Amino acid sequence: MADKSIEIRSNLAVVQDHSRHFADFTFVYPVISRRSRGLSLGVNLNPDKLCNFDCVYCEVDRRVPGRVSEVNLNQVRDELRAMIHFVRDGGLAKEPRFNELPSFITRNIKDIAFSGDGEPTMIHNFAECAQAVAEVKRAERLDRTRIVLITDAAGLDKADVKRGLEIMDASHGEVWGKLDAGTEACFKLVNRTSVRFDRILRNLLETARLRPIVIQSLLMKLDGEPMSKQELEAYCDRLKEIVGGGGRIKEVHLYTVARPVPGPNVSRLSKEELERLAETVRKRTGLNVFTFD
Ligand code: SF4
Repeated sequence: MADKSIEIRSNLAVVQDHSRHFADFTFVYPVISRRSRGLSLGVNLNPDKLCNFDCVYCEVDRRVPGRVSEVNLNQVRDELRAMIHFVRDGGLAKEPRFNELPSFITRNIKDIAFSGDGEPTMIHNFAECAQAVAEVKRAERLDRTRIVLITDAAGLDKADVKRGLEIMDASHGEVWGKLDAGTEACFKLVNRTSVRFDRILRNLLETARLRPIVIQSLLMKLDGEPMSKQELEAYCDRLKEIVGGGGRIKEVHLYTVARPVPGPNVSRLSKEELERLAETVRKRTGLNVFTFD
């Protein structure tokens, strides 16, 4: 009997197009995500492209203004319902980007993810957005589908975001927090933000104390060099500090840049390079580390 996980991985590798726009939808888009292990419905809470980071590898083209500047929650609900029905009715499977995939992937919504063209926690009413998605998910009886927040972690200490996370917790929620560095210097170099590194670390720890989180880290080559041994050790230390402080890390996702990115000094790691880094992280932290090259 074929190994189903290998079959899924190779099927997911077929779809390279991660476009955040689909037909005439504004806020909701389908994407085959290897980190979601299947079909993910993205909810773009930042059509204005607002972000408090400016990562060297970011693929969002901020020279072109966003299509709309505000999130219309009624439209989000309508689009999400319509997309769920479209998926269930087999419509997605007929689309050119998805038609090479088997129906057990294109009809099975693994998660609904707050992500998109910026940082979702920068929206002023995140809790309301989480409530809206949780209600649609419940009404559509998507009991096994997760609600995922993909975040740079800078806003996890906001009261409204914390309320949103509690709503997500009650609805199979999961937080995927970004951690690309082990030291303040590397953090500033890669994520290019005025947010302090210790705030990110504190937010990850506090969030992980209340529910298990996923750490997502983009590793790459900068000026042709992968993360140094010292930086990798510091990165592992930060992970161990979260666990040592009472935080729970469900998984660590290590991935690399998928396509050419605007920063001329940024390039992708090979599969072998990424796996070598992952092996060190596994050994030093004892955590479940997965790579997505
Ligand atoms: S946090 Fe995400 S959206 Fe913001 S700059 Fe970094 S990669 Fe781009």
